[in-house]
Amino acid sequence: MIPLLSEHFICIRCIGRLLAGLGTGLDNRIRGEAILTLLTMNIDYSLKSETEKVEIQSYKKIAENTLYKPLLETLKKYGHELTVEENKKCVFCGSNLDRLIDHFVKESLERLKEVSANTFLVAIKHSGKIIAREEEIVRRYKLKYYELMERELKREVGKKISELTGLQPDFQKPDVIILLDLDAETVNIKPMNLYILGRYFKVGRNISQIKWMYKNDHYHRRVSFSIEEALIPLIKMFKGSKVKLHAAGREDVDVRMLGTGRPVVIEVKEALNRNINLEDVERVLNAQHPYIKFKLIEYSDKKTLRKLKIESPMKSKIYRALIYSPSKLSAEEVRSIEEYFRNVTVVQRTPKRVRRRRADIVRRKIVHEVKMRIVDHNLVESVIYCQGGLYVKELISGDGGDTSPSFSEILGKDLECIELDVLLVS
Ligand SMILES: [Zn+2]
Repeated sequence: MIPLLSEHFICIRCIGRLLAGLGTGLDNRIRGEAILTLLTMNIDYSLKSETEKVEIQSYKKIAENTLYKPLLETLKKYGHELTVEENKKCVFCGSNLDRLIDHFVKESLERLKEVSANTFLVAIKHSGKIIAREEEIVRRYKLKYYELMERELKREVGKKISELTGLQPDFQKPDVIILLDLDAETVNIKPMNLYILGRYFKVGRNISQIKWMYKNDHYHRRVSFSIEEALIPLIKMFKGSKVKLHAAGREDVDVRMLGTGRPVVIEVKEALNRNINLEDVERVLNAQHPYIKFKLIEYSDKKTLRKLKIESPMKSKIYRALIYSPSKLSAEEVRSIEEYFRNVTVVQRTPKRVRRRRADIVRRKIVHEVKMRIVDHNLVESVIYCQGGLYVKELISGDGGDTSPSFSEILGKDLECIELDVLLVS
C-alpha cells in the first residue's frame, strides 16, 4: 500500500477502492479516508517515539500525492518541507469519478422521464482503456481486494437513482437497463420486453392466429383478421416497438376456440410504459373484434413463455366436432366408435392439407375418450378428449389412410368433420 501511494497520485475514492473487498457497510470514500487517517496517526506515532525507524520520504510523498490535509499538517508540525501541487490527476480515474457519478445520475434521471417503470439495472459500456490501466496497476502491486472502477460507478449511480426516484434495482428481470457509455459520457435507456400471460377466445370462424398472407403478383390476405392483429393497439398503449403473440398451440382458421380459451403470452417489445392496469388492457383488446376476446391473467416473464412452448404439446384438449356421414348412421355404429376410442394411440402422418407448410412427420397421439350424439341420421355431434397436437379433422376422415385408426376406418364410411370447436386447452 505504502509504495503504491507514494508513487502515484490517487484520489480518496480510488484509495478506498484498493481495499474495497474489506469491511462491509462501508463506501470507498470512507475506506479511503480511514486509510489516510491511519497512515497519519502511524507517522505521528513513529515521529513521537524516536526509537522507531521512520520511512519519512514515503510519507512525504503520500502527503504530496494525496493532498490529505491532516497528513500534510502533521508532517509540517515536525518541520518537514512539502511541495504541494494542485490539479494533479488520479492515476485510476483521472480525478473524474465524483464528476462522472453526478453526471451519469443527472443524465439517467432525464432519460428515465420517458419511461414508467418499477425496476432497473445499470450497465456500463466502454472501450476497455480504463480497465487495462487499472489491471496493470493491480497486477504490478499485487492488489488482492481491489474493485474495478466500473463496478463502483454502477453501484453508486444505481444507489443514487434508487434514492431519487424510488425505482428498485433488479438484476434478474429489470424493467429498464440504464446503459452508461463511459467513453462518450452519455446515457441510454433500454426498456425490456414486457410479457403478459392470458388466454384468448375465438368465438367466430375464419380468423387466423397470426396474419396469413399468400403471394401471386402481390401479397394478399388469406383471412381478413388475426388474433395477433387485435394486439396492435398495445404498441401505442405500452409505448413499445412491436407486439407478438405466443400461443400454446393453434387451431385451424375455421375452428373456434371456446371454453377455457387458449393460453398465450403477449410480448410487447421495448415497452416504455409499463404500469398499466391489466383490466384496462383487456378492455382495449376486447373492443378490437367482435369474435376475439382475451382474458389477461398477470404480468409475466420470458420463463413463462418458454414453459408455454414446451408444455403446449403435452396439454390435453377437448374438441367438439360436427360430423357428416354420406350414408345414415345407426345408434350401434355410433356406440362402436365410443367403445373403440378409449385410450387408443392414433398414428398420424402430417395431414395432406398442411404438408406443404409443415414438416412431414409421423406422430403418435392418444385419444382418451369419445362421446357421440346423433343429431339426425347423417349428422353426429362428437366430443373428443385427446392429447394436444392431434389433428382432429383427420381422426374423423382418416386422411386417405394417413391417420389410423380413424372414425371412417372403424365404420368403413367416409366421414367428414364439417365444424370443429376447441372446448378446453388445459
Ligand atoms: Zn480516482
